[in-house]
Amino acid sequence: MSYDRVEVPSEGEAVELAEGEDELDVPERPIVPIIYGDGVGTDVGPAAQQVLSAAAEATGRSIEWMRVYAGASAREEYDTNLPEDTLDAFREFKVGIKGPLTTPVGAGYRSLNVALRQRLDLYANVRPTYYIDGVPSPVSEPEDMDMVSFRENTEDVYAGIEWEAGTEEVEQVREFVADEMGFGESIHEGDVGIGIKPISEFGTKRLVRRAIDYALERGRDTVTLVHKGNIMKFTEGTFRDWGYEVAEEEYGETVISEDTLWKEQDGEAAPGTVVVNDRIADNMLQQLLTRTGQYDVLAMPNLNGDYLSDSAGAQIGGLGIAPGANLGDGRFVAEPVHGSAPKYEGQDKVNPTAMILSGRIMLEHLGWEEASELIYDAVEEAILDKRLTYDIERQIEGAERVGTSEFADIVIENIERNA
Ligand code: NAP
Repeated sequence: MSYDRVEVPSEGEAVELAEGEDELDVPERPIVPIIYGDGVGTDVGPAAQQVLSAAAEATGRSIEWMRVYAGASAREEYDTNLPEDTLDAFREFKVGIKGPLTTPVGAGYRSLNVALRQRLDLYANVRPTYYIDGVPSPVSEPEDMDMVSFRENTEDVYAGIEWEAGTEEVEQVREFVADEMGFGESIHEGDVGIGIKPISEFGTKRLVRRAIDYALERGRDTVTLVHKGNIMKFTEGTFRDWGYEVAEEEYGETVISEDTLWKEQDGEAAPGTVVVNDRIADNMLQQLLTRTGQYDVLAMPNLNGDYLSDSAGAQIGGLGIAPGANLGDGRFVAEPVHGSAPKYEGQDKVNPTAMILSGRIMLEHLGWEEASELIYDAVEEAILDKRLTYDIERQIEGAERVGTSEFADIVIENIERNA
């Protein structure tokens, strides 16, 4: 692959797909593309990068970073928001990491995050939500949360199929929907914006498969399909039905629907079996608070997944902590749940933990479990030492406030001491 304005590191090799398998062939010095991102991405990006390098080196490996651009930094370098160089680097090197990117509300360009996920076909957004000892939480038993959400990333109302009020296009769509499809009563007179919500069998099934595979690999007990199918019958309702189809038709006896479990096995699942059930999204939001420990792996359409995973993140300490990653077939891009928090840009203030722990998912994806464990322990130690960024510090009496880079330095010291 040739690149226009970025350099491929002279040392290091690409991660490859192992032939005939869904596994990676990971060199000792993989080349890993990184986007720092907009806003606070310029603070948390370099901080996380240093922590990940330290964890790799402490376990006898190294990461050859390839800096690539999107958002504001790309506009400076390329005069476009999402250069082909960046997409090509993630395609060629297969495993990478990105910070947050700003999306203007209402007008302006479309979400670069959505565009990146769509262009690279990163169809599953995965967010492990677990509690780290010492983090203040708004709930009384935050340690009950140990859940992984799989959010569909390429369709639903995020597909970007929408028309602005007052345009000729929206009038054509209104006419078609009202006159030809018979929904004249459903759209008010006057200006209206209209969007379309595609949810496909293909998109749903590959997402649910990914969630079930994860549950089987990691010894998780349940996969819950979260939908609003009582109201949106032909999109979210069908999401649920296709989800059950995958469970019932593709996994033999290792996966069973809750319904079959009760009808045929009196609710007793054999050890190692994954049970698939479903919940309506609004009920699920309250159940996450009241019955946190019952939920394990969730599979959701795009919008439900966006809301629900942020809310779950609040239960374990907020956006400064919550990590995530995007998966495609043979592609992986880690990214924190939080956005670019522009008011804090460049202040060396915000918490880099979410980006560090997103990098930790990346190390696990590379099979570097030891480095991943070192990071978890080092972050937990830093938190228990009460030397914390403002978001956590402000909630703990007697804690010392440190900046983004100082927090990363503390984590690195812990890694080096524990290695
Ligand atoms: P946000 O950037 O996540 O920030 C919301 C609030 O969360 C902040 O004001 C701050 O709370 C807290 N926060 C976020 N990151 C933090 C960190 N690292 N450490 C400590 N606290 C942190 O959400 P937003 O303000 O709704 O969105 C801003 C921009 O980011 C928008 O353009 C949005 O489109 C974009 N965005 C991008 C992504 C992505 O790239 N994947 C995701 C979400 C949003 P306090 O004010 O309480 O300090």
